Parts: sequence; C-alpha cells; structure tokens
Amino acid sequence: MRIILLGPPGAGKGTQARILMEKEGIAHISTGDLFRENVKNKTVLGQQVESILKSGKLVPDQITIKMISERLDADDCKNGFILDGFPRNEAQAEALEKMLQEKGIKLDAVVQIEADDEKLVERISGRLTCSGCGEGYHDRFKKPQHTDSCDKCGATGKFTRRADDNEKTVRERLNVYHGQTKAILPFYEGRGMLKTVDGMAPMEDVTAQIEAVLKGGKGGDRPSSPRPGG
Ligand code: AMP
Repeated sequence: MRIILLGPPGAGKGTQARILMEKEGIAHISTGDLFRENVKNKTVLGQQVESILKSGKLVPDQITIKMISERLDADDCKNGFILDGFPRNEAQAEALEKMLQEKGIKLDAVVQIEADDEKLVERISGRLTCSGCGEGYHDRFKKPQHTDSCDKCGATGKFTRRADDNEKTVRERLNVYHGQTKAILPFYEGRGMLKTVDGMAPMEDVTAQIEAVLKGGKGGDRPSSPRPGG
C-alpha cells in the first residue's frame, strides 16, 4: 500500500500513520519528523531548517524533495509507505508524481483528514510526546495515567513538546495549509485518487474511516470543497 495522508496540522496524520504502519508493516515517512531528527542531531540540514520549523513556514522545496527522493529508496519502503506531511504545495505534488514515475512506483490513494481550525489550535497547543516510543498525549484530552511516565513504554521523564506547537506558530502553519497545501487537493481529485475522512471524530473512528476508504468502501469520494448551500 502506497498512500499520502493530507490534512492541516493537528488533524491526526501522524497518529493515523503510525497505526497504519503497525497494521500494514509499511514505512511511515514524515517530513516533519525527518527535519526534527536532523535538528536534534545538529546536522547541516538541521541547522538549515531549524528557524524555518520554528516559524511554521515551509522548508524550501528543493531541500524537501531531495530528502523524500532519498528516503523512498530505502529498503523499508519496498512493501509500501505512508507519506505524512509531503507533498505540501503544488510544486512538491508535481515533483512527487515525476519522482514516482521514474522509480516505477504507483500511488494507491490520497487520504485527506478534514478538521476544524479552532479545534486544531486547542488540540495542538496541549500536545506532548514520549521521546522513548513516540506515543502522543494531550494535557486535556489524553493525559498519561501517571504524570511523568509513558503508559505505552513506561519511560519516565521523557515527555517533550514540539517547539512549533504554540498558538502563534500553529496559526502560521494553518495559514500555510490553507494558502498552499489545500491547493493540491484538486490535483489528486482530478486523478480520481482523493478520499476524505472526518478528522474530528474519535481517533478509533478516524482509523476505521481510513480503512474503509482504502478498501474502496463508503463515504470517501466527497468533493474537497463544500457544495453550494451546505
Ligand atoms: P509537521 O511535523 O508535518 O507538522 O511539519 C513540521 C514543520 O516541518 C512544518 O511546519 C515545516 O516547517 C516543515 N515541513 C514538514 N514537511 C514539509 C514539506 N513537505 N515541505 C516544506 N516544509 C515542511
């Protein structure tokens, strides 16, 4: 299975991608995670992108496209992959299409996770992650059972918050999504690949919706923009 997960920041792309990765045994490729890893390890790339990530703006296409092209050649992508956070504008979508053609890879679907902006600001501002295993938590909606230890892996003192998960940067990330990333929805709609799910539903329901649209089940082919009068 080779799919793209699209959606605004905080819609649950990362959470759903990790669930799919475990169920399907395919690679989870998150451009945001790759950049953050480079920042953490203070690589040349990390130094180039650190301030851009903090601002909520996009890293230049040339850097991002090269990173993805190399990542797709890794062995763990042979059985399939989930792209999370890429492509994010029209130039990246076009570059991806060309790159996949050259590599002889066919995409199965593009899943758009829809969500409400104000709820997303609330969701993202309270996020924390266990740096031991990657499990996600939230100050209000998903507190760990014990304040400082991870329910999943038991690590203590490992919770971290992303530098860009503050209200100001979240609003900039949402602006970038509405101004640039949404413009690629018609690109995939025109190719008959776009499926839409409701990201405001409980996490398990979103997973079920994604599984249904990937199997070609009900509800996935709604237009990406609202119909007149509704
Ligand atoms: P994310 O973890 O997907 O929310 O991404 C975090 C940040 O990484 C974004 O706000 C951008 O600064 C950068 N980033 C991630 N993916 C891309 C991309 N496809 N193109 C450009 N910048 C990106």
